[in-house]
Amino acid sequence: MSACVFCRIVAGQIPSTRVYEDDLVLAFMDIGQVNPGHVLVAVKPHVDNVYALDDAAAAAVARATARVARAIRAAFQPAGLSVYQANGAAAGQTVFHYHVHLVPRHDGDGMAFTWPVKNPPREVLEAHAAQIRAQLG
Ligand code: 5GP
Ligand code: ZN
Repeated sequence: MSACVFCRIVAGQIPSTRVYEDDLVLAFMDIGQVNPGHVLVAVKPHVDNVYALDDAAAAAVARATARVARAIRAAFQPAGLSVYQANGAAAGQTVFHYHVHLVPRHDGDGMAFTWPVKNPPREVLEAHAAQIRAQLG
């Protein structure tokens, strides 16, 4: 069994709240929600970070990120949406499997991500994921 938590999520060995899936990408709710509707878009094959991402995977992540971003906007109508990735521990990466964060943002949030992150119950993540999936078409 892989030691990588996101590889285990991709393999279905750890449950996740899935939002979108294709051959190369899995999008799921972050268990730590900076704001409601916070989604991670992960490449399925194990890649540590952006430096190791090949062109096909990069294109697939970009396409999925744009699609899920539009669905989050339609579902939650945030004032804005932050799309970011951490690459390397010095940049704040904690899971060393390439992924992009999509974080709905509201007026007054500011730019920092330092306030306490909420860990909503699974039912809440499921309900929010269903709202996003409903907008994906
Ligand atoms: P990073 O810090 O590498 O940019 O982002 C890692 C993210 O993965 C964190 O926001 C963290 O909350 C999330 N995360 C870590 N373990 C799990 C897990 O088992 N399930 C889910 N859904 N998210 C996770
Ligand atoms: Zn992995």
